[in-house]
Amino acid sequence: MQSYLPLFAAIGGLFLMGGLAYFRASLLAFSLVLTASLAAYSFVSPFSELFWLAYLLIVGGLNFKPLRQQLISKPLFKTFKKIMPEMSRTEKEAIEAGTTWWEGELFRGAPDWKKLHSYPAPRLSAEEQAFLDGPVEQVCAMTRDWEITHELADLPEEIWDFLKEHKFFAMIIKKKYGGLEFSAYAQSCVLQKLASISAVLSSTVGVPNSLGPGELLQHYGTKEQQDHYLPRLAEGKEIPCFALTSPEAGSDAGSIPDAGVVCMGEWQGEQVLGMRITWNKRYITLAPVATILGLAFKLSDPDKLIGEQEELGITCALIPTDIEGVEVGRRHFPLNVPFMNGPTRANDLFVPIDFIIGGKEMAGQGWRMLVECLSVGRGITLPSSATGGIKNAALATGAYARIRRQFKLPIGKMEGVEEPLARLAGNAYMMGAASDLTVTAIDLGEKPSVISAIVKYHLTHRGQRASIDAMDVVGGKGICLGPKNFLARSYQGAPIAITVEGANILTRSMIIYGQGAIRCHPYVLAEMEATQHPNFNQGLQQFDKALFSHLGFATSNFVRSFWFGLTSNSLISTPYSDQTATYYKQLTRFSSNLALLSDVAMGTLGGNLKRKERVSARLGDMLSQLYLCSATLKRFDDDGRKQEDLPLLHWSMQDSLFQLQNALDELLLNFPNKWVGKAMRLVMFPLGKPFHAPSDVLDHKLARILQEPSETRNRVGQGRFDSRVEGNVYGELEQTLEDVLACEALYDKVCKALGEKRPFTQLDKLADEGIKLGVINAEEAALMRRTEQGRLAAINVDDFDHEQLENRPNLAKTDAADLDSVA
Ligand SMILES: Cc1cc2nc3c(=O)[nH]c(=O)nc-3n(C[C@H](O)[C@H](O)[C@H](O)COP(=O)(O)OP(=O)(O)OC[C@H]3O[C@@H](n4cnc5c(N)ncnc54)[C@H](O)[C@@H]3O)c2cc1C
Repeated sequence: MQSYLPLFAAIGGLFLMGGLAYFRASLLAFSLVLTASLAAYSFVSPFSELFWLAYLLIVGGLNFKPLRQQLISKPLFKTFKKIMPEMSRTEKEAIEAGTTWWEGELFRGAPDWKKLHSYPAPRLSAEEQAFLDGPVEQVCAMTRDWEITHELADLPEEIWDFLKEHKFFAMIIKKKYGGLEFSAYAQSCVLQKLASISAVLSSTVGVPNSLGPGELLQHYGTKEQQDHYLPRLAEGKEIPCFALTSPEAGSDAGSIPDAGVVCMGEWQGEQVLGMRITWNKRYITLAPVATILGLAFKLSDPDKLIGEQEELGITCALIPTDIEGVEVGRRHFPLNVPFMNGPTRANDLFVPIDFIIGGKEMAGQGWRMLVECLSVGRGITLPSSATGGIKNAALATGAYARIRRQFKLPIGKMEGVEEPLARLAGNAYMMGAASDLTVTAIDLGEKPSVISAIVKYHLTHRGQRASIDAMDVVGGKGICLGPKNFLARSYQGAPIAITVEGANILTRSMIIYGQGAIRCHPYVLAEMEATQHPNFNQGLQQFDKALFSHLGFATSNFVRSFWFGLTSNSLISTPYSDQTATYYKQLTRFSSNLALLSDVAMGTLGGNLKRKERVSARLGDMLSQLYLCSATLKRFDDDGRKQEDLPLLHWSMQDSLFQLQNALDELLLNFPNKWVGKAMRLVMFPLGKPFHAPSDVLDHKLARILQEPSETRNRVGQGRFDSRVEGNVYGELEQTLEDVLACEALYDKVCKALGEKRPFTQLDKLADEGIKLGVINAEEAALMRRTEQGRLAAINVDDFDHEQLENRPNLAKTDAADLDSVA
């Protein structure tokens, strides 16, 4: 026994050290416990004096700041200062913009789940609810998407007027200027409902309420600008747009070539200080109908008329579009979703200097203004629209799958169809959750730059994939355009959401993790700031503090990752001990993995990580899935932990955890240093990969949820426009779904009386036979006849005369005539 004592003691010591690292003990506490343990052990088996000398030198040195700074921190600080890539002003401003919130917890390896559940559930005020029940419902009922997308290529005039009259464009404008001043949650609910009926409608309303003149004026405008423009915007007297993108500068928006020069010039008969601006912008939403143009351009002041700086940088100005020389009006044609979008140009246009938003003091501050405001708008408009779209697609497709029969069965009962239906239901549930959690953050006063990038990418990406699933299920009915089609325009329009406000590949590859790593990591920003400190010694002090905390943090995440992998997440406490407990544990495990891998990636790649986009993308995927999963757990809680919603929760969590595991697996497989990747695999998956995609049984449960009316199904589609008003194909589908289900027993009764199983078609004729046989009453027969009508409306598609589809009926003749005249 005596001979095993050192072994047992060593194992005990290892556990003790591991425990301290796990609970993130300080370096001093760690050193004291280690010293006390070694001292106790030396009574059993004494150490040599040489050992104690070396030990005390190392441990004492680490804890004695002046010594460790000289020996460790200073050389590292010098190296960091050299290798740290020079950050441009635009990069610095982007990184510093916005705030971090729940994603910071997820990034740091030990999320506090009680904190997540303590955030309030989103709620509408009475006024917001009245707006949703009133003007929003009304405008949805007025909307005929086919008329908008095909016949008019615009909203009808009465809808434009209705939107202006009811201040749809002024949801973000403060009440004191006559706006609605709605919460982010209310804006999200409005946009979700509008998106469920028409993408043209939701984008027309979404853009003025997102990043643009209204938002910029409220934050940075001068009092005169605010007093003049905001009431006019609130009343709909001004239609705003915001022009940043140029043909040569899309994703790389900081490189816009559009330029202005400060100079004197004539304005309304007087010589005034102003700017000569030349711009060529494209893709600008609402530009064709805008009355004021928010313009981003690079301003220079070669004669130093407004200060000492010659190159001022990106500047934002407000340009009335009725000034001679401003070109607006022409339109682009985005994917058959013809919201107002087009180019704008001007050449050497002179405008007064006080057209700059915030006046001449804000010259050169444009990029900071944009990135600061982007984190709010980007978290609301596109994620809400994508969520509204998928909620509607999920429920409409579910209804259709139950109504449409082939091989004598509703197609939704076929296993092959259940698979995409389950994805639709699960994604709609999770996207609703993520959208709600994000607007909660905004309503709590956050400007969540990382979260807004996560939801921008993941919700539009999932929305696009879901629209493909919906089209696959619906088949030919989805493909043939016309007033009866309920899917095609949202399917066609899905790539628009992918492209705008930061194209998705770029957002995934650079922005989510690029901002996330620096903003959410507890020490990296402090280390970076220390290297930029103008005073070397003060910089070194800051660096030393951050570095040693960072080392302790990385050690802790190493121990936690290995322990969780080895013990299947033992020791992790969870806020609930029911079926959801396992998810809290798994997320905590992955959160530790992400924290560790971030440090390993930054430590091994340094500044190169910025160029290793696929490493950054996969780390970003991990963070994003953690966020989506937390949002789903929070939603389940906020919805009252309803047991009947559990299949949706299970599916969403399992699907996302599987995607998270794949991101981690691919990252380790492709890690730039193979050996580091292999070592990390041993730490993170010591017993192999534990997760799999949702089972077929779970898919089946979700497919059923979409096909049978229930409270759970209503929660999946919460907030969409499904009123049974005439002309609303979604309301009609809902009615027919209910009718079909109610008819099935009647159909069985009549078939039984007939002695033969007829196909579930021609229900009107079957009703006549049922009446004759006396097995159903007149009311039941009426239901069967109505069901047949609804069924046919659901499965029939539109057809047109050739002339109706010909876009320019005279084109062929005109061309022929031209050719004749040339000949
Ligand atoms: C319908 C519509 C409405 C719009 N509305 C407005 C508006 O109102 N105001 C406005 O100013 N702009 C607007 N835009 C512009 C929009 O924001 C840009 O289209 C967007 O920034 C992408 O630019 P791009 O289309 O030129 O793509 P590009 O920049 O040419 O990018 C092409 C592809 O390369 C990828 N990519 C680029 N750089 C990287 C990188 N470093 N790493 C990985 N991938 C990368 C992108 O993700 C994309 O997939 C709108 C665009 C459209 C289509």
